[in-house]
Amino acid sequence: MGRDYIPDHMGIEMTRVCPTPNCGGWVVPDDNRFPGGYDEGTGLIHVRCPRCTSSGLIAPDGPQLVFRLAYQYVFAFGAASDSVTVTVTLHTQRLFAWSGFAPELLARHAAEWVMLRGRGEKVIALALDQPQFPDFFEYVRMHLVPTTVPNGSLPH
Ligand SMILES: [Zn+2]
Repeated sequence: MGRDYIPDHMGIEMTRVCPTPNCGGWVVPDDNRFPGGYDEGTGLIHVRCPRCTSSGLIAPDGPQLVFRLAYQYVFAFGAASDSVTVTVTLHTQRLFAWSGFAPELLARHAAEWVMLRGRGEKVIALALDQPQFPDFFEYVRMHLVPTTVPNGSLPH
């Protein structure tokens, strides 16, 4: 029935830039295990980057916020077999103030990014002393805030 594997009905950018720093590739559905990359069991799409071979997951409907407590946001993906907890402190918000993202949106982007890079992380704190921080910061700066993307840097 011609399923659209990467829908854009969320109004969110569903064509994903590879999460690997400095790769600049775009992920594509990975149909090695599932047709079109879509795993009906989990409701998630397996994707890979043809350029650097990074592989990860995309939730067609995006991350669903299931729980929030103070600075912690818990997102479920697909059939809710996967969840990611993101901590966005006030300090984090200041670090990303230039992006214009509200805390929840920042957390949502972080949760998507964690799934996209496919390392199975369940918890991420957006803090300077965390190993993931530089990569995520770069990802936001390069790919999520349109005004900072230099003209002509995107592949055609
Ligand atoms: Zn890549």
